[in-house]
Amino acid sequence: MNSNKYNINIKEFEELLGKDNVLIDEKDLAIFSRDIIEWEAPLPLLVIKPATTSEVSKSVQIAFKQKIHIAPRGGGLSYTKGYVPNKKNTVMIDLKRLDKVLDINREDLYVTVEAGCTWKNLTDTLKPLNMRPAMTGPISGIHSTIGGGASQNIPGSMDAILGMEIVLADGRVIFTGSSSCIRSNSPFYRNYGPDLTGIFLGDTGSYGIKTKITLRIERIPEGVSFASYSFTNLKNMARAMAEVARLGVASKTFGMDPLKNRNSTKIDFDEGIDTLKEVVKNNSSVISGLKNAFKVATATKKNLEYTPWSLHLTVEGFDQGSSEKAMNSVLSICEKYNGTQIEATIPLALRARPYSIRGFLGIQGERWVPVHALFPLSRTDEVVDKVEGFFSSNKKRLEEFEITHSFISSINGSFWLLEPMFYWFDEVSEYHLQYLEKHKHKKLARSKKNLATRNEVIALRKELSNLFFELGSINAQIGKFYNFAESLHPETYKVLTEFKKTLDPQNLLNPGNLGWK
Ligand SMILES: Cc1cc2nc3c(=O)[nH]c(=O)nc-3n(C[C@H](O)[C@H](O)[C@H](O)COP(=O)(O)OP(=O)(O)OC[C@H]3O[C@@H](n4cnc5c(N)ncnc54)[C@H](O)[C@@H]3O)c2cc1C
Repeated sequence: MNSNKYNINIKEFEELLGKDNVLIDEKDLAIFSRDIIEWEAPLPLLVIKPATTSEVSKSVQIAFKQKIHIAPRGGGLSYTKGYVPNKKNTVMIDLKRLDKVLDINREDLYVTVEAGCTWKNLTDTLKPLNMRPAMTGPISGIHSTIGGGASQNIPGSMDAILGMEIVLADGRVIFTGSSSCIRSNSPFYRNYGPDLTGIFLGDTGSYGIKTKITLRIERIPEGVSFASYSFTNLKNMARAMAEVARLGVASKTFGMDPLKNRNSTKIDFDEGIDTLKEVVKNNSSVISGLKNAFKVATATKKNLEYTPWSLHLTVEGFDQGSSEKAMNSVLSICEKYNGTQIEATIPLALRARPYSIRGFLGIQGERWVPVHALFPLSRTDEVVDKVEGFFSSNKKRLEEFEITHSFISSINGSFWLLEPMFYWFDEVSEYHLQYLEKHKHKKLARSKKNLATRNEVIALRKELSNLFFELGSINAQIGKFYNFAESLHPETYKVLTEFKKTLDPQNLLNPGNLGWK
């Protein structure tokens, strides 16, 4: 097929990338162009799979010449329509063949990767060197990419991105950070004049396509202490979280609600055992007293099954003594807010296995989708009241459609993140199955397609995000979902729009994202 009613010349892409790297089959188009929600949306005309910056640039030039919209895609593990086309006349660029770790520079403390490299690949590559990225990757990082994370804004983590190589909508390639300096040619430093790196971060692929990314790396600290606490309500847990953040010593602060607690005791058996093996392998000294995987599992189950809210904390230090000393201050805060200490198996498990796809379906095979909001540390009480009010006023609706909800909450800097999640019974599609190992497909509880409930979830989620918007929340992962344009001062949004028009005057890249329809 060389052309169709959109006058797209597919042959040009095939000649550049080879036929195998140009997908036109409807089934493939559907798998690549849907996200976790599976919105009603047009399929793209084709999906292409370049493997180098030059191939990305030339592909974009072909699309530019033919006036075709372009949707870059990383791991595809998002839920805000970021890469989901809103126009049929779209070529989707799958970046997962750009997957290499290119340059680890331990002397200058940076690593450069291709944008389609997963967080897991990078972390596993650095670990034998006792190094890690100086930022927290998303839990989805077993499949999600560093380019995706950079485009979404991972809350609290973006300072460690030092520079990028970016393909613009007309195919030009630019560099940001110190590697933009002709004579430096080293990506060791970010802020060289205005922060060009910063403006491309969190753009959800509207300003350009990231092809290479440089991140700061750091030594894995020797000392690490874990603690978990249970709380009778969200308000107290959130107050404790905020005070722990102000203390400034915890490297991970992660809270779960009663349902999430219960579910984490029932995670898929293979998945649980894999995690526990990692826990035992990595933490033989830390889990003294819990000598094997079975005991860790039993302790977790016993602790969490009847726990109302649970908070999981990790404190790192130059050595074990310093991490324990700092942890003692964290424990005092939890006790001040009436927390009860429980076995710290969850933070251990998160440390041992930071990336995992579990949780993207419910434990009964339900579909899942979250919505999040970031607030200042001082506003937790007010937000908890409003959100609990939202769920109690929608109780009947939730029951009628058999929609359950759950919360997680975290802190990674000077903000509080609340992430309510919805679960409902609906079809698990080929999109979802692509992320699960084949042997798990058969075991999965399956429901019939349930558009009525899916639409109700979509409506509830939008109403909740509107409530967050009214409360002045800040969001990551904006895509086509959050009310970004409406939330900004008009002159600020105008400046961002003018920049978009300069880079992409025909609005070819991800039209609809950040409000640019
Ligand atoms: C189970 C699960 C756990 C998760 N945990 C977390 C978490 O802990 N923290 C968190 O922040 N998020 C989390 N997420 C959300 C999501 O996975 C992250 O936002 C992740 O960074 C998305 O990366 P991706 O490669 O899948 O991007 P995609 O979903 O493929 O794309 C996201 C957006 O970025 C654009 N994009 C992708 N790659 C590029 C590129 N190279 N250049 C330009 N634009 C690009 C796309 O067009 C799209 O708009 C989770 C999701 C799931 C399903």
